[in-house]
Amino acid sequence: MSELSTQSIMYLPGVGSKRAETLKQELKIVSFYDLIYYFPYRYEDRSKIFSISEITPNMPYVQIIGRFVSLSFIGEGRSKRLSAKFSDSTGIIELVWFKGHKYIHENIKPDTDYLIFGKPNAFNNQLNIVHPETEKLSDVTIQQRSPLLPYYNTTEKMKSQFLNSKAIFKLQQNAFSVHQGKIPETLPPYFIEQYKLMFLNEALFNIHFPKDHKQLQLAQNRLKFEELFYIQLSILKLKSQRNSFKGLLFPLVGEFTNSFYKTRLPFELTQAQKRVIKEIRRDMGSGKQMNRLLQGDVGSGKTIVALMIMLIACDNFFQATIMAPTEILAQQHFESINQMAKPLGVNVGLLTGSTKKSDREILHNKLETGELQILIGTHALIENQVKYHNLGLVIIDEQHRFGVAQRAKLWKKNSTPPHVLVMTATPIPRTLALTIYGDLDVSVIDELPPGRKPIETVHYYHNQRNNLNHFIKQEIQKGRQIYIVYPLIDESDKVDFKNLTEGFEYMQRVFPDYKIEMIHGRLKPSEKDVAMKTFTSGFAQILVSTTLIEVGVNVPNASVMIIESAERFGLSQLHQLRGRVGRGAEQSYCVLMTSPKLSDDTRKRMEIMTRTNDGFEIAEADLKLRGPGDLEGTQQSGLPFELKIANLAKDQQILQLARQAATKILDEDPLLELSKNFVLNKQLTFLARQKINWSMIS
Ligand code: ADP
Ligand code: MG
Repeated sequence: MSELSTQSIMYLPGVGSKRAETLKQELKIVSFYDLIYYFPYRYEDRSKIFSISEITPNMPYVQIIGRFVSLSFIGEGRSKRLSAKFSDSTGIIELVWFKGHKYIHENIKPDTDYLIFGKPNAFNNQLNIVHPETEKLSDVTIQQRSPLLPYYNTTEKMKSQFLNSKAIFKLQQNAFSVHQGKIPETLPPYFIEQYKLMFLNEALFNIHFPKDHKQLQLAQNRLKFEELFYIQLSILKLKSQRNSFKGLLFPLVGEFTNSFYKTRLPFELTQAQKRVIKEIRRDMGSGKQMNRLLQGDVGSGKTIVALMIMLIACDNFFQATIMAPTEILAQQHFESINQMAKPLGVNVGLLTGSTKKSDREILHNKLETGELQILIGTHALIENQVKYHNLGLVIIDEQHRFGVAQRAKLWKKNSTPPHVLVMTATPIPRTLALTIYGDLDVSVIDELPPGRKPIETVHYYHNQRNNLNHFIKQEIQKGRQIYIVYPLIDESDKVDFKNLTEGFEYMQRVFPDYKIEMIHGRLKPSEKDVAMKTFTSGFAQILVSTTLIEVGVNVPNASVMIIESAERFGLSQLHQLRGRVGRGAEQSYCVLMTSPKLSDDTRKRMEIMTRTNDGFEIAEADLKLRGPGDLEGTQQSGLPFELKIANLAKDQQILQLARQAATKILDEDPLLELSKNFVLNKQLTFLARQKINWSMIS
């Protein structure tokens, strides 16, 4: 593989220096490897030729063979177009060009067979095809007539240099004329046999030039399997290496934990919470470093779990830290944890971006001497100047905002790496979890605290606003509080910002007697703080906000979540926002406000939200609707690699099989030292150099 990746395509016929530059800029294609591994995103069945008499306007695409009967220009100026009558033995259809007609007009020959391909439309009750692909039948290559024609993604800039899908296809043909049959195999023979895979050369050929559906499927299977297999192999290898790291031993359950459990626990823990704490304690008492993912739906009670295991760290004379994604959340964690831990004599500190320099110095000091036992904060925690006396446990809350590299940075805060617990609020579909967090052990809190009533979710259109206001009033009269969230994805977005402030002013006009607060990212931290406190303390009835309150915020008396322009949010974000209510004993509600004109996808999202409260079901649906690249949480931290062919929403079975295969190999040969696994080791090294971010770790 490495030979292919060092050979530039610059001198491949059809490329040249200008196109080489464009391919590099637009698609990061530099070498033969990059080109050959640039796979089609779809295929079109070109085996069928339609008769013109069969064609109806609702067909997606048709292919016809016939001759041009006449060509004429119609209209003037900008609406000028070229219209052709095209016929086969069964009828006549109109072909139309609005652009590029000069070229067509000059090159079309009479009495010659052409192959036409395009989407039929009905225009004034007449069938036509606009901008069809047009090719002289005698010029059509065998591959183009092959049953499945590949389509490659290209960009506008590429198209302007005639680097369209067809051109990429030609480049692939040229590349294969040089390399066909000579691409080194990347999986060991025994493995290929065991899993009945197609050989690499055959698979790569068939992915670009499939002989038929069956061959294409075999090729796709081989390449998907291999892609997911190597990801799993590298994750699991990393995991098994880490398992051999010595970890800190926390054998004691001491005074802090015991007295908290006996006298201060505000409620009975759920079975799930107890089980999870047990799992974590077992890790921390094993002598190995813990790397565990704690999954639990919003409101399932992860904070108390975090506190209890931090107390265990303190009992063993180690420091613990929680890293949260936002200041509000860090602040809130600080308040609830300090309130519970302080009476036990545990010193808790808060460190965020807005901590004053003088306070920061005091904190740094207390941290280094060990006087501070628990530190809560944001990214500021992992800055280099933050030194710990003996950091024993790191908890990362709402992990999806943190990258793998940041996690790695934390490991280095102690000579023996601290135990790491990653808590996610958004349930993650299994395939994604295995891929992004596949190196972590998993604990799940699959039970909500008792007495919670499921949140009732309704979908309203803007014209039902009066009903909504009536409902808001009713709830406030019952003593409840209300959140209203506006989409403000980008703090500099003027239009969104205007909607937010107008929404705020509107509420003030409708409810002059109520206290209404507003928070958004442009406020100073101190202003945010005041607004938030006014609401948390119950002094304000309504909080108008951006998604700042998306994660973690906990105001049990708030029982109504109104999400404005809900169509602008993804499913898991909606679920997160909804999770801000339903935290008290009262019946809670979530109202999704949208305009009446919705796309099918949006309608589906609203339907799912009103139907279920189950975060796992929602996460799976989200993955299916949007694909993993767009899935919230993966955007910032990013998938640690780019998948070229596998699809985490669709290829669950292949992933399972690939993970099993990788496990089996590492069980037998943990360091991949056996000669039969030489290829695996080599390819893993190659891939790590190519892309995979986690090669930066450790
Ligand atoms: P999340 O998992 O979303 O972080 P929190 O830890 O914020 O959830 O807990 C949500 C709410 O449930 C909090 O008000 C918390 O005090 C409460 N809670 C947690 N565990 C229990 C329990 N076992 N019984 C009753 N209430 C609980
Ligand atoms: Mg939380």
